Amino acid sequence: MDLLFKNVTAITMMPEAPVLYNAQVGVKDGKIALITGASALAPAARRVIDGTNKVLIPGLYNCHTHAAMTLFRGFANDLALEDWLFNHIFPAERKLTPEIVYTGTQIAIAEMVASGTVAFSDMYFFMDEVARAADEAGVLANVSNAVIGMDRDTYDFHEDRVYAQSLNVLKSYHVNTGGRIRAEASIHGVYTSFAPAWKQVTDFAGENSLRLHIHLSETKTEQDNCVAAYGKTPARVFEEHGVFDLPVTAAHCVWATEEDMDILARHGVTAVHNPVSNLKLASGVAPVARMLAKGVNVAIGTDGMSSNNSHDLFEEIKIASILQKYAANDPTAAPALETLRMATVNGAKAQGRGDESGVLAEGYYADLVLMDFDSPRLTPCFDPVLGLAYSATGRDVAMTLCRGKILYENGEYKTIDVEKALFDARRYQKIITH
Ligand SMILES: [Zn+2]
Repeated sequence: MDLLFKNVTAITMMPEAPVLYNAQVGVKDGKIALITGASALAPAARRVIDGTNKVLIPGLYNCHTHAAMTLFRGFANDLALEDWLFNHIFPAERKLTPEIVYTGTQIAIAEMVASGTVAFSDMYFFMDEVARAADEAGVLANVSNAVIGMDRDTYDFHEDRVYAQSLNVLKSYHVNTGGRIRAEASIHGVYTSFAPAWKQVTDFAGENSLRLHIHLSETKTEQDNCVAAYGKTPARVFEEHGVFDLPVTAAHCVWATEEDMDILARHGVTAVHNPVSNLKLASGVAPVARMLAKGVNVAIGTDGMSSNNSHDLFEEIKIASILQKYAANDPTAAPALETLRMATVNGAKAQGRGDESGVLAEGYYADLVLMDFDSPRLTPCFDPVLGLAYSATGRDVAMTLCRGKILYENGEYKTIDVEKALFDARRYQKIITH
């Protein structure tokens, strides 16, 4: 074994035994090679970690991000959506360069690995720079650059810089990283492009076997305007245009109707719940419990840092759960294990990694997070799943591994030059906001 965790509480997320106490978990060649009870004979390992009062979980999946927007964290907040977007964010985004996006993404990834996230699904500009930052950091990433085509008749995907960047990611990362970094196609939303653009993007995705990342039914205005323009909801419109014939990740789905949820379930679309962003922008409460009941795969995301402002998925897990309890007026709604499943198993499925990551099982990639429960915040511990969902924070992460490689351990970043990234970020801050 390369690494052996002994005497650890393992949250496997496997249905038959979601929690193993006093477990041994061995890592070899990037994969989980052993997961067993304490009584079994411990194999030899190059490094042994005592897991007493520690909890080992599958690495978390952040399935909707605009990672480089980390550079806009705390910039022009508490404003009305239109004012914020058109007068502040869009002008600042026009100043972005590939280098700035690279640095913003690096900082986002540093925050993610330090708080237990191993994978993110990104939709932003300069997706090849996002891929570069993610590749160097050693995380899992599905990256896309959203197509925005407000001119119905003249939009040409092959002329859009998104096309060249997508090819670049496919050529440079998709295969070379063993599927760790994957290109996705993306349509920003039903309200920022038209049918000819959707056809070009879905054709491109189909030809290259890519997944698709979109925004869907985030606000009531989006939903109402779509019904006014097309006589049907965004989900119906996309279904009729063949968008859902591909594997799709749809962020938000706050205003999804009963029929919309049936459409998502029918096509195997993943709905990504972004509870903090939805609350901060006053977008509404996504019908997560209804979607799950209908068989929709629901994952969790943070959205961009202008509307969150934290990449700590433990915040999202807690708020996702208590928000559903509030909405249903039912404290038994969205129980801890189910919400934890959204941030692990369902997230892996959303990225097309469901058969290789997202649970602790032999043969799966060692995408692992070791949580330190030896603290006032988490002691005593009657149930580690409840501790994770309702009390733990990203600051309780002791170690984060992706494909068996340690990315973060006790405050130390192993793959990211954080000091340089912070230095660059301070420099770019002046450029993009002045
Ligand atoms: Zn978004």
